Amino acid sequence: MSTAPITPETRIMPRIEPVPEKQSLLGLTREGMREALIAIGTPVKQAKMRTSQLWQWIYQKGEQDFGAMTNLAKEFRTEIGAHFTVERPEIVALQVSNDGTRKYLLRIDGGHEVEAVYIPDENRGTLCISSQVGCTLNCTFCHTGTQKLVRNLTAGEIVAQVMVARDDLEEWPENGTPKEGRRRITNVVLMGMGEPLYNFENVRDAMNVVMDNEGISISRRRITLSTSGVVPEIVRAGEEIGCLLAISFHATTDEVRDVLVPINKKWNIETLLDTLRSYPRLSNSERITFEYVMLKDVNDSDADARRLVRLISGIPAKINLIPFNPWPGSPYERSSWSRIEAFAEIINNAGYASPVRTPRGEDIMAACGQLKSASEKLRKSALKKGTS
Ligand code: SAH
Ligand code: SF4
Repeated sequence: MSTAPITPETRIMPRIEPVPEKQSLLGLTREGMREALIAIGTPVKQAKMRTSQLWQWIYQKGEQDFGAMTNLAKEFRTEIGAHFTVERPEIVALQVSNDGTRKYLLRIDGGHEVEAVYIPDENRGTLCISSQVGCTLNCTFCHTGTQKLVRNLTAGEIVAQVMVARDDLEEWPENGTPKEGRRRITNVVLMGMGEPLYNFENVRDAMNVVMDNEGISISRRRITLSTSGVVPEIVRAGEEIGCLLAISFHATTDEVRDVLVPINKKWNIETLLDTLRSYPRLSNSERITFEYVMLKDVNDSDADARRLVRLISGIPAKINLIPFNPWPGSPYERSSWSRIEAFAEIINNAGYASPVRTPRGEDIMAACGQLKSASEKLRKSALKKGTS
């Protein structure tokens, strides 16, 4: 990848002064944008067409300057510029891993910080985005869950993560075709900070913006929403977003899952699996991913592997084994590679694909479950160096 340097690198970005309050257009649905235009005096009859034009500038071209939107009347450009903004959140730091993984630390309203991670692969580029600041759930192996401060991200803040990465990767098409003729971000996963199904409406609206054919146009089949198992919202996600689903499963008995993923006390394994069986469009080409973090001597026995296979039988599924990524003070250890291989073999023999997720961006604490610590560490080291 041309953008990946050889050594890890951290750039602390200069502080940008906040601009006066204007309404952000990012994350509004088409209907929301139409209403916003009418509210500033756009004639109702023109509002739909204006929305469409604006939409293309914002989401197809990535244009940030209303003045440059040349097919719009000059007065209209001035008018929308006075009321609205499509500005991105400030990038507080951009870290680039040895393996090309890029982590963006973004500052959003209220001084909160969220992280998004871009993971390049040979034939794809996956952007992992956050849905909340922190998380209200307390999965015992996850660092994000230990963060006290929590708030939902707005739809705009969720969409903005994609916009920031597209800006950075220079992915906005020139003359209609992506630069270098290919997409950099081919897939989006909601696997960053937060529980997306506890922020349902904002996640749904944001994903509908990202999927819109006249804009960023990432297909619903290339978006995966990961949930710890918020049962009442799962079917709704299938109906109103239509993306692929990943489940943070992680245990094969309620006794263990109650500890690892405490939401299990509310909706246990049986309830969760029953709900998954009715997920819309479930098929062999649209399988559910079961995420399973490998914790030494906790959930990684042969008996666990066999139980897992029995539990999910009948559900078109793949199982994603995730070697545990430790964080400072974490109470678990990663299973050994031979244990992970033995576990994977049992699952494979039962006919399930069970890729082991290679930890990416570990040198910049961008791997699964490590988000949060990075910003704190960064701040500490910046303090040590006397910067802020
Ligand atoms: N809240 C959602 C999405 C974010 S977590 C969920 O729980 O599904 C994304 C994935 O990373 C989840 O499968 C989560 O269980 C996993 N994860 C969390 N902490 C981890 C860690 N320390 N090591 C490996 N995977 C972890
Ligand atoms: Fe929240 Fe997911 Fe972490 Fe659990 S694993 S604490 S649901 S972010």
